[in-house]
Amino acid sequence: MSLISLKNVSKFYYSKGVIASGFSKVSLDLNDGEFVAITGESGSGKSTLLNVISGLDTYEEGEMYINGKETSHYTEKDFEDYRRKYIGNIFQSFNLVNSYTVYQNVELVLLLNGAKKKEIKKHVLNLIKEVGLYKFRNQKVSKLSGGQKQRVAIARALAKDTPIIIADEPTGNLDSKSANEVLKLLSEIAKDKLVIVVTHNYEQIEKYVTRKITMHDGKIIEDKSIKEVNKKENIKTSEYKNITKFNKLRLGIRNAFNIKVKFLLLLFIYLFIAFALSYEYSSYKEEKYALNKDGYNQYFMDLDDKRIIINKKDKTPFTEEDYKKISKLDNIDTIEKNDAVIDASESIYDNKDYWISGLTKPINNYKYKSVDVGRMPENSSEVLIVASKDNYYINNEAEKILDSTFYVVSDQTSDIDKKFELKIAGIKYVNYYEITDGFDTVLYFSDEIIDYYVFGKNQLYSDTKVKINDIYYKNEQYNNLLKIEANKNVPDGKAYFPEDYSYYCKNSRCKNKKISVKVDNMYFNDELELTINKTYNKRNLTRLTGLKNYYNNEGKIFISINDYNRLYNKGIYQITVRVKDFQKINETDKQLQKNGFNTFKISDNLILPDNIYVLNIVKTIVIIILVAILFVITYFVTKVILKSRNTYFSTIRMLGSTKKVCKNLLSIELIIISNIAYILFLASLLMYRFNIYKFKPIKIISTYISNKELIIIYVIISLMSYFISLKFARNIFKKSAISTMKEDI
Ligand code: ADP
Ligand code: MG
Repeated sequence: MSLISLKNVSKFYYSKGVIASGFSKVSLDLNDGEFVAITGESGSGKSTLLNVISGLDTYEEGEMYINGKETSHYTEKDFEDYRRKYIGNIFQSFNLVNSYTVYQNVELVLLLNGAKKKEIKKHVLNLIKEVGLYKFRNQKVSKLSGGQKQRVAIARALAKDTPIIIADEPTGNLDSKSANEVLKLLSEIAKDKLVIVVTHNYEQIEKYVTRKITMHDGKIIEDKSIKEVNKKENIKTSEYKNITKFNKLRLGIRNAFNIKVKFLLLLFIYLFIAFALSYEYSSYKEEKYALNKDGYNQYFMDLDDKRIIINKKDKTPFTEEDYKKISKLDNIDTIEKNDAVIDASESIYDNKDYWISGLTKPINNYKYKSVDVGRMPENSSEVLIVASKDNYYINNEAEKILDSTFYVVSDQTSDIDKKFELKIAGIKYVNYYEITDGFDTVLYFSDEIIDYYVFGKNQLYSDTKVKINDIYYKNEQYNNLLKIEANKNVPDGKAYFPEDYSYYCKNSRCKNKKISVKVDNMYFNDELELTINKTYNKRNLTRLTGLKNYYNNEGKIFISINDYNRLYNKGIYQITVRVKDFQKINETDKQLQKNGFNTFKISDNLILPDNIYVLNIVKTIVIIILVAILFVITYFVTKVILKSRNTYFSTIRMLGSTKKVCKNLLSIELIIISNIAYILFLASLLMYRFNIYKFKPIKIISTYISNKELIIIYVIISLMSYFISLKFARNIFKKSAISTMKEDI
């Protein structure tokens, strides 16, 4: 039984409707130990015959036996298997990996065939010694001479340890001295292998061969034995396993870095994608954000985009537990129980010169670290002022303002309440646009003062009706008619009624009559019965209530502080929370809702300028197109860069790696490079954040891209490199191994 046996085998080429014959009716028996020379003029079919024997090309007619097995039913996969077990190829153009060292080239075939690292080293070095290149083991192959290259190819073929070595014009590119050395080497190998060498220079090989085959016009015209050979009984085929995961990774890493120009180009491409994508997206967010700032809302003055107004879904007041629950959520910056005054403006007055009005905020909301005049407040009666630089009066009279004593002014009565004697501790000047639109001043008060303002505010958000003589009258807050006001002089359960409005009462006599006050708002309703024990008029108002200005109070019903609180201040039903990170406001919003709160995000409830909708549509389209263009550019640039890698992949395919292995190696290579690019991208953002350099586009990216979006960009880049490697591997395997090879030659 022969190692390879051909019976009347023919090979045709079909190209452009013309049938050409590669070779026809070839019958041959080839055995172990033979050193066969195939000669013949160019175009006589030598290479075609070798390719068929190598399993690189198919045949159309006749039978080919491998080790006694018929091969006409062989699939592509069977031939792949056959090549791995039986065939070592040596080419005229060497087909080495030029960017690898001698050692790495020989090692490669062992790695691809599943050898472990430990087993490899000694074996590889022995082979390199055997072909006389030990001195050059760590040299890049590209620096070797042709003869040396071919010896590396021989060492590589030997490393695979197959019973057949096929060499197509191995000396075609060599000078005669090198050619002789290579042929001598091959003849030594042939002692226990079948070596087939194609040559058109027979004299060169004559002294080594055991058999000479001459071809002419696709036919064997001479087949002559030159020397006796010892035929062996048991043919040892090469044992192979699949490449280990670890070795795949090693090769992938090696391939990522070993061609510096390619590495840098790919790195640049991926860096470009990361920056282009994130810059485009963040500048879109910047514009949107800027337009958002121009929005307004008719109910709220504090349009801080980090603000969420919440109440409870079950309409009960907030409890300590609720506050705890909220403060445990991520991203909560402040919880403000004084929501009722956040959107109000209040005034303070020094009773002679200065009257300062502004938005009202609790001092713990103060976001600046210092003040420009004075100092930070030290007790609950001290106030901080943030004023626009354009506020002439606060700018020029700062010293005097700091010296004066101020009093709170009730915004509805304009009455000065001397309960609190306030001092302005400090003033901070800011640009006009830093303050909510329409205001040029913000007053920062202690919680105690804020509570005082809140006390009077709830009535504003309620419907109040007063029942007198069985008729309900709606109270009119803005002209004070029947407006309910708390007064410390009124006993619980009693009411002081305006004498001028006695006609509401039966017989125009109000004293000792019962009235009831009914309060209705979105959270609760309540009714309280009171007895009028005093009526007041212009003369006795001050004596009864302590209030001085009759006209500011005319028409009010005064009740006790306890009763007032019972009617209006049942608890806190609505609060404001502010988030730390605006990017995560939607998550926080969802968490709040999950915890039983209704939410109202200021940022979602602004009436926006029309052009924001146009911007949204245009930018979304631009970003989609950009991603598509980037992908196409990346694909083609990568393809051009990787074109030089065609040789590599067809070489390793020749050495026995499957499509999957090629794909894996390439994706490891690309993913390593894209990861490095991504890390550099992150590093440049980080360096910007640490103020190492300044660059406007990076500033925009760094400000507007959230961590989540960074992850999305990472995923996009990784997917891109993965798909590119998929597509590339598919392209390589679309063609047969030999045509990929031929293209390169
Ligand atoms: P050699 O190696 O002896 O120079 P080849 O085996 O390369 O000759 O070619 C044998 C014949 O087959 C030639 O006539 C050549 O034109 C033809 N041939 C080789 N490869 C192809 C191909 N891919 N398509 C069509 N014809 C081919
Ligand atoms: Mg040829």
